[in-house]
Amino acid sequence: MENKQITVTSPLLPDLDEFNALLKEIWDSKWITNNGSFHKQLEKELAEYLKVPFVSLFTNGTLPLLTALQALRVTGEVITTPYSFVATTHCIWWNGCKPVFVDIDPATGNMDPEKIEAAITPKTTAIMPVHVYGKPCDMKRIQEIADKYGLKVIYDAAHAFGVEVDGESVLNAGDMSTLSFHATKVYNTLEGGALVMHDEATKKRIDYLKNFGFAGETEVVAPGINSKVDEVRAAYGLLNLRQVDAAIEVRHQVAIRYREALRQVEGVTFMDDMPGVKHNYSYFPIFIDPDRYGMTRDELYFNMKAQNVFGRRYFYPLISEFSTYRGLPSAAPENLPNAHKMADSVICLPMHHELSEGDLERILRTIIR
Ligand SMILES: *Cc1c(COP(=O)(O)O)cnc(C)c1O
Repeated sequence: MENKQITVTSPLLPDLDEFNALLKEIWDSKWITNNGSFHKQLEKELAEYLKVPFVSLFTNGTLPLLTALQALRVTGEVITTPYSFVATTHCIWWNGCKPVFVDIDPATGNMDPEKIEAAITPKTTAIMPVHVYGKPCDMKRIQEIADKYGLKVIYDAAHAFGVEVDGESVLNAGDMSTLSFHATKVYNTLEGGALVMHDEATKKRIDYLKNFGFAGETEVVAPGINSKVDEVRAAYGLLNLRQVDAAIEVRHQVAIRYREALRQVEGVTFMDDMPGVKHNYSYFPIFIDPDRYGMTRDELYFNMKAQNVFGRRYFYPLISEFSTYRGLPSAAPENLPNAHKMADSVICLPMHHELSEGDLERILRTIIR
């Protein structure tokens, strides 16, 4: 057992017997999709859990990004961060807009608000920041800039499930926020996602858009898409919602253990909790300074792998380095020094609700020399 694989994440799974009982209900009702009762219940329970007014479920975390830009009629240029998962930028591109990358704040990994104004042109219509690793962006500053220039703000909050600042959900910031419920995330519905909005009219419009634009049997009000969640996934999501707090608490304890053990390690740094923030411990990134640590990030990463400890280099390479985006003027490395530095030094350590004390010892032994 000593050498069993330790994976970077492990999906939160509902109890099979409980899931079976709900499946039986779905089978009996024969209502398997199209805004069924589990779907409605999950939207309601998620809104309560997340402390937000309205939630619209989606089949993954990418389609709500795509749909939010459509709903807000974003055109031209969208300011975003290269330090994220590719889906963030892809959605800007799929809407026929031009992504404009700005650099990050090295303290958080999030878009540096002080870099935004210099990137605004007459074509800019929106800002798409990401709460990277679930660390809240400087939402107040971003909103000030957006208001000054009349820009929309769409947060990719794929990492920020349940994250709050001074008791307020980060999902209430900006015009809309998106979530991913992919298997690798803190909370999953197998595949899935959601869009969070502030008013009922927007919720209605989004619900049309995710159902081909249908507003009634014969009326199509917009070129919509299909992102309807079925009853099986909604039932699964309801069960997972009941155990997600316990899973986050285990993650919290893992973070405490990592920090205790790594604080004294020369050349290894990590992020501490932010004051006033309810974190979700979705990721535990460490950053390697090769001169002080005596080994490069990649050497450590592959060393860990050789010992069957699987971290992930989130987010390396930067989105701006992929061939599709490399040619954009804002993708030039000189424009993004902090993002490059972080991408070149990061390893996300295994972080999930099933890590044992023995696992943690094995992981830490691959790092502490
Ligand atoms: C996971 C993720 C997405 C995409 O979510 P899917 O559910 O995989 O489509 C988008 N943005 C970020 C930052 C993510 O981590």
